[in-house]
Amino acid sequence: MVIAESIPTLLQQARTGTHICRIKCVMTSSASLMQTPAQNFCRQCGQTVETRVPPGDSLPRQCCNHCGTIHYENPKMVLGTLAVWEDKVLLCRRAIEPRYGLWTLPAGFMENSETTAEAAQRETDEEAGAQIEMLDLYTLISVPHISQIHGFYRARLLSPDFNPGEETLEARLFAEAEIPWEELAFRTVRQTLQHYFADRKTGHYPFRSFDIIGPPPK
Ligand SMILES: [Zn+2]
Repeated sequence: MVIAESIPTLLQQARTGTHICRIKCVMTSSASLMQTPAQNFCRQCGQTVETRVPPGDSLPRQCCNHCGTIHYENPKMVLGTLAVWEDKVLLCRRAIEPRYGLWTLPAGFMENSETTAEAAQRETDEEAGAQIEMLDLYTLISVPHISQIHGFYRARLLSPDFNPGEETLEARLFAEAEIPWEELAFRTVRQTLQHYFADRKTGHYPFRSFDIIGPPPK
């Protein structure tokens, strides 16, 4: 069978003028098996990458056969704050997809070279223009089906005045009875708020780590 023959053997046969058609067929076949989508390029050298399990690993990775770089994909961190003024919580209405028009705690993707607290404070400033005093990390939530980890710090607002950024339609304070529970953008936000209002009754805010498994029921 053609596939069982090695490429060097077929190249030798080609050089001697035999099996030209067969070598063309087998090379086309090999290329189609090994080829990854055209948009997947190596960030080191620009060559196309191949998705395969590297030696000693257990999961498929994007591997560059030209320079040897293995491109690992890992979960993303989303950091934000639950910022409070008197008995009210700061929420932002999203001006971007996903969940345009829905309410969220100010939060966003962590950048390289910053701490989790710096990320949470920066996102609060960018999305709400809110000046805050950072308190402790309050919730840490694994969301494995979207490969994200969400963390929310409690924070104290230094002023009730906001200056929302481009990603926010509106930033405002909500008392517990005013929270738009049916218009919250993310389950991590909902569950963080639920814990907060329950804990506030006791005046004690223990660190909470939990998971949200799978997409929401439709
Ligand atoms: Zn490369």
